[in-house]
Amino acid sequence: MKAIRVHEFGGPEVLKLEEVATPKPSAGEVLVRIHAAGVNPYDTYMRAGTYTLKPSLPYTPGSDGAGVVETVGEGVTKVKRNDRVYTARTLTGAYAEYALALEEQLHPLPAKVDFKQGAGVWVPYGTAYHALYHSAKAHASETVLVHGASGGVGIAALQIARAMGLTVLGTAGTPKGLEIAKREGAHEVFNHTTAGYQEEILQTTSNRGVDIILEMLANVNLSHDTKLLANNGRVIVIGSRGEITINPRELMGRRASIRAFTLWGITPEEEADIHAGIFAGLENGTLRPIVGKELPLAEAARAHKEILEPGSAGKIVLIC
Ligand code: NAP
Repeated sequence: MKAIRVHEFGGPEVLKLEEVATPKPSAGEVLVRIHAAGVNPYDTYMRAGTYTLKPSLPYTPGSDGAGVVETVGEGVTKVKRNDRVYTARTLTGAYAEYALALEEQLHPLPAKVDFKQGAGVWVPYGTAYHALYHSAKAHASETVLVHGASGGVGIAALQIARAMGLTVLGTAGTPKGLEIAKREGAHEVFNHTTAGYQEEILQTTSNRGVDIILEMLANVNLSHDTKLLANNGRVIVIGSRGEITINPRELMGRRASIRAFTLWGITPEEEADIHAGIFAGLENGTLRPIVGKELPLAEAARAHKEILEPGSAGKIVLIC
């Protein structure tokens, strides 16, 4: 089978398309024919060797894939041959024609969701769901600012928050991103590259502030976020690529808080909740993964460059 292999940590050029043996499932494992793999920003940090999780080399990247069950190992009961599934992590990596996964890492993909969309489910929707339900404990009467609403996690958050009944504000950096954010659930959108946009956000709330901020770039925005919060507001740090100084007094006066997490640290109970919520949303159409760009597997290096560039418009997926 064809797979992307990483033999040394480094830039996107270390992603090589190679011919490798197709793995065979042992007991409790499943072989999935991957039709599409989702590219997430953390894949690039991991490939660079700078992420908390450092895989042993060589490895095939990718936790998010969608496809069809090819064969199952002994004792597998959750899925059977030909089932359509999305992966939430794999054993051998999703940037490949086939991936081995534990049966518990596989989840049903409703018929109305195609494989490209299925490749954009786990990390984006899992993160957005965890941020809104478990971390922020959002209520329908609240206002959320999705700070970075045009990318994978942001679009998922807009759709979930809108379905939960919140008032939803979103930011993006390009006209296309703003249009997608509006279409996918934001009541109001703001351009995070325009000077003074934070003032516009405050005015939209009649200077009350927002209850929740889902923050995709905390190292740039966190100090200003604390000034946008309403009383008892919370910033949920989802993404950050560096350090930042904040003034804690902005939090004290508002009884506000900053919370943060990584999807790797969630409990099995939280994960079960997330997949149940995702399945219901995919099935009833409130959750609709948006694919912004499709590239062949061989162009994984290009995907890793482009995922870090401004101008997001949904998910980048690799066709395997
Ligand atoms: P993505 O698809 O590449 O989207 C990036 C988003 O960040 C886009 O909406 C982009 O908007 C926005 N952005 C760019 N500049 C910004 C600014 N100054 N202020 C606010 N937003 C800005 O990435 P993603 O998959 O959505 O992930 C977003 C971040 O969360 C990444 O840093 C990722 O590593 C992190 N993440 C963390 C977890 C976790 O477990 N904690 C899980 C998933 C993702 P424009 O392109 O329109 O400017």
